[in-house]
Amino acid sequence: MAKSSKKLNSILRIAVAVPLHRIFDYLPPTDTEANTLSAGVRIRVPFGHREKVGVLIEVTKHSELQPENLKQALEIIDTEPLLSATDMALLQWISGYYHHPLGDVVVSAMPVLLRQGKPARISSQKLYRLSETGSTLNPEDLQRARIQQSLIIKLQNQSLPVNAKQLNMWHKTWRPAMAALIEKGLIEVVNDIDVPPITHSNVNTHVLQANEEQQHAIAMVADSLKGFAAHLLEGVTGSGKTEVYMQLISQVIEQGKQVLVLVPEISLTPQLESRFKQRFSVAVEVSHSGLTDLQRCNIWLKAQQGHCPIVVGTRSALMMPMPHLGLIIIDEEHDSSFKQQEGLRFSARDVAVVRAKKLNIPILMGTATPSLESFYNAQEGRYQWLHLSKRAGAASEPVLRLLDIRNKLLHDGLSDILLQEIHQVLSKGEQALLFLNRRGFAPALMCHGCGWVAQCRCCDANLVVHQQDKVLRCHHCGHQQVLPRQCPACHTPNLLALGLGTERIEQVLQQHFPSQTIIRIDRDTTRRKGELEKGLELINNGQANIILGTQMLAKGHHFPNVTLVGILDVDSGLFSIDFHAAEKMAQMIVQVSGRAGRSEKPGQVIMQTRQPEHPLLLTLIRQGYRQFAQQTLQERSLAGLPPYSYQALFRVLAVDQQLAIDFLEQVSTLAQNNIVKDIEIMGPVPAPMIRRAGRYRYQLLIQARKRASLHALLDLLVADIAKLKSSKKVRWSLDVDPVDLY
Ligand code: ADP
Ligand code: ZN
Ligand code: ZN
Repeated sequence: MAKSSKKLNSILRIAVAVPLHRIFDYLPPTDTEANTLSAGVRIRVPFGHREKVGVLIEVTKHSELQPENLKQALEIIDTEPLLSATDMALLQWISGYYHHPLGDVVVSAMPVLLRQGKPARISSQKLYRLSETGSTLNPEDLQRARIQQSLIIKLQNQSLPVNAKQLNMWHKTWRPAMAALIEKGLIEVVNDIDVPPITHSNVNTHVLQANEEQQHAIAMVADSLKGFAAHLLEGVTGSGKTEVYMQLISQVIEQGKQVLVLVPEISLTPQLESRFKQRFSVAVEVSHSGLTDLQRCNIWLKAQQGHCPIVVGTRSALMMPMPHLGLIIIDEEHDSSFKQQEGLRFSARDVAVVRAKKLNIPILMGTATPSLESFYNAQEGRYQWLHLSKRAGAASEPVLRLLDIRNKLLHDGLSDILLQEIHQVLSKGEQALLFLNRRGFAPALMCHGCGWVAQCRCCDANLVVHQQDKVLRCHHCGHQQVLPRQCPACHTPNLLALGLGTERIEQVLQQHFPSQTIIRIDRDTTRRKGELEKGLELINNGQANIILGTQMLAKGHHFPNVTLVGILDVDSGLFSIDFHAAEKMAQMIVQVSGRAGRSEKPGQVIMQTRQPEHPLLLTLIRQGYRQFAQQTLQERSLAGLPPYSYQALFRVLAVDQQLAIDFLEQVSTLAQNNIVKDIEIMGPVPAPMIRRAGRYRYQLLIQARKRASLHALLDLLVADIAKLKSSKKVRWSLDVDPVDLY
């Protein structure tokens, strides 16, 4: 380190996406005036034998390298920085906090096409909108041109300009009619990025009259619009959190600012998107993993250039540059999909709070079931605690009931009482929703003759029976094989499918309710694009009578006609070795229950259990989630677990088990050498699933009383690990604030 650095003309310090904790020095390309370059522009550089696209961090005069060892950058790609100084500051923070290479953080903050060096240009599309004459025209005047007439009517009922895709859905043969309308001056063609934000009123449909608690929440957040404040909106399911978001969004965009709304999973975005689009007449952009690279790139650039006032997205939208950001909203803040589980293992919720703080703007986190971290932060006064304690409008809260199924006759997992209740609900023309968090037909296949069990060759796991596809499938590595007809060990044909999956329940339901429409929603039935939307549509228009599904159904959906929710198996979640499990279980129960009785008709929830005396279930049912959260926090406090301590988990994967253990032993030794008081090192231990996809998995947990001492240790460790020979032979990762220990 003590090498004297050479004074040179100009050096470009560039972040490149490689797994190394450093940035790289280059000479500017020929004919480039380095002083005019701003941090945040992309630069193409030679790297090894290849070229890479990096991002300029700074221009300096000094380098640790000898001038003759410096390579020259190839090309400055952007004239204007893609990432502003504030964006860069946030990315630097993320890199530091998660101990993740800056180059990888910076580059992964950009969409794929920009990472590849494509020009930062929005590929725009044509939009059609009514001209002034068009908007006041009486459609009767177009009686003799039916398609023209219908296009005008549709456009008059819609405030936003439409694109070709939408027009195709309205009329396959819209083009000649449209040409005629343009000719008549009734319709104008505009470019989508040129559409000016509509200023006179950005709100379409009638705004609901907020109730007292909603008003209070709105006022508290609105009061803080000038500076940083973190608000936790704890509102029971169906209490109108979305209405609170929308009224706040409208205030923020009226001030010409942007709003970022983060939602947990792709399954929720269509619903929120359509509610927002109905409400607002400004562009609502939605970013999630289901989009094409080009679509994502366009949205990113529109946000970055300040063209879109409202961005809704999943966790990857968190780092999207938004120059006029005025408010961040996190819906369902407790959801574990906000935590990225590979690569840069960041928590979008936690980083969003940091982003809000750096920008000095408020952040609003909404949920019916706060994560214990947020609950604790609210209790400690770090977050402003806002409550919506009742369901909005005429809806009442559902009644929860434990159904003891010990010694009861079950029809493939369904008790008589539950079946009767389903009958009741259906006879009133209402819908029933059944929840089982296990897809496939049965989680295991066993031989009745010899006890053989079908296991995955690559994982420490059973293969799951998928009857419809006639295969056995591993849910951990994707391995698949034909469903055997006889036991491979004893060659008898007596193979038993053990346990329950959604596919099996669907079959039982079809036998019991042959005349009803049953719809199953899980990863298997929604694999193809558009299938989930189709399913949700069938539920919402009342065609589906019984809805069956996994956790995909648990979140956020608003099904007004569902009055019965059945949770088929709560027991399997009660016995996990991970301390997070109870929290997740309770959240899941409350969220699924929240799908019942969201409209005028009251709802009930039936949970089948063989553990009717289990304290978790009893607390939850008798006293509610808040009491549960308080009790669980007390337990964590006594055990010294997060949020009363801070954790980091080293995970390692290796084909050779011994290499994995050796590596973590060395990390553990390094940690012991650097240890300060109040830090505990636990492990190495095998991961709960020791082998997965052919690799052995081990882990080492570090737990500290103080965040600062944990991070000081991690800084030292990450630097030292890079020097360990054993680190080259395994795949290792560091997970700061892990949300599960698997
Ligand atoms: P949450 O997001 O809290 O689960 P929603 O925002 O989906 O709740 O609201 C549930 C239902 O209550 C929706 O149909 C919504 O239109 C309605 N609602 C919300 N706020 C009000 C209000 N102030 N008055 C009447 N109905 C309301
Ligand atoms: Zn056998
Ligand atoms: Zn497997």
